[in-house]
Amino acid sequence: MQVAGQIKMMKTSLVEGEANYSLSIGNEVIDMNSLVGSPIKLYFKGDISCSNCGNRTSKSFSQGFCFPCARSLARCDMCIMKPETCHYHLGTCREPEWGLSNCFSPHIVYLANSSGPKVGITRATNMPGRWIDQGAISALPILQVSSRINSGKIESALKPFIADKTNWRKMLKNEVEQTDLLAIKNELLDAIPALIDQMEAQKLNSEILNISYPVLKYPTKIVSLNFDKTPTISGTLDGIKGQYLLLDSGVINLRKFSSYHVEFSS
Ligand SMILES: [Zn+2]
Repeated sequence: MQVAGQIKMMKTSLVEGEANYSLSIGNEVIDMNSLVGSPIKLYFKGDISCSNCGNRTSKSFSQGFCFPCARSLARCDMCIMKPETCHYHLGTCREPEWGLSNCFSPHIVYLANSSGPKVGITRATNMPGRWIDQGAISALPILQVSSRINSGKIESALKPFIADKTNWRKMLKNEVEQTDLLAIKNELLDAIPALIDQMEAQKLNSEILNISYPVLKYPTKIVSLNFDKTPTISGTLDGIKGQYLLLDSGVINLRKFSSYHVEFSS
């Protein structure tokens, strides 16, 4: 098989507890799980086009945009990374309509275990995709609020008690701490009762979701591959976790290369 075109981050779904991945290249969609164990080759042809306006850009900003779009789109603003700094109420949202529909919708505060326990937030509609993208092996939604800013305030209040980042090298090597998310949930909720009331957060009684990944072999040493440095990336696909392809020649984070034009063969 050989296809060429612009790539996007892989689409994911959960099928009987296992992460399923499909990669869009131009108009084609490739079922990536079926390629695990086979040799594949990706060749970056040198073109990047902005995933918003479609203009050619020599460099990709904010994972797939041209510089002007990265400066003007609300989804590329700092407040997306730091939701507690949402500034919609000041009238300074870059795209108020987008902000209203995306950031003032139900958001979830969750615990996940990708390299160890961490807290995170996501739009309610983005579960379980958010966790698969992070390579989490388990996840537990704990609170629901009505806006992104409120979920961000809760997340930042929990930062003294729990990590909010994944150690991606450990995640890829499958060096994951064993952890009891339910016990952590109870401790965390007990730590911030006043804020939970103030944010009108609804406590969730969800069960832990376990996620497995299509991986035959985890890397013991992480070699990070990058289209900007190495246009041709090839090897046997040992597995897929998070948005990473695990090749026997190294790992590549496809999310980072959204909007790159690539020739794919297997
Ligand atoms: Zn653009």
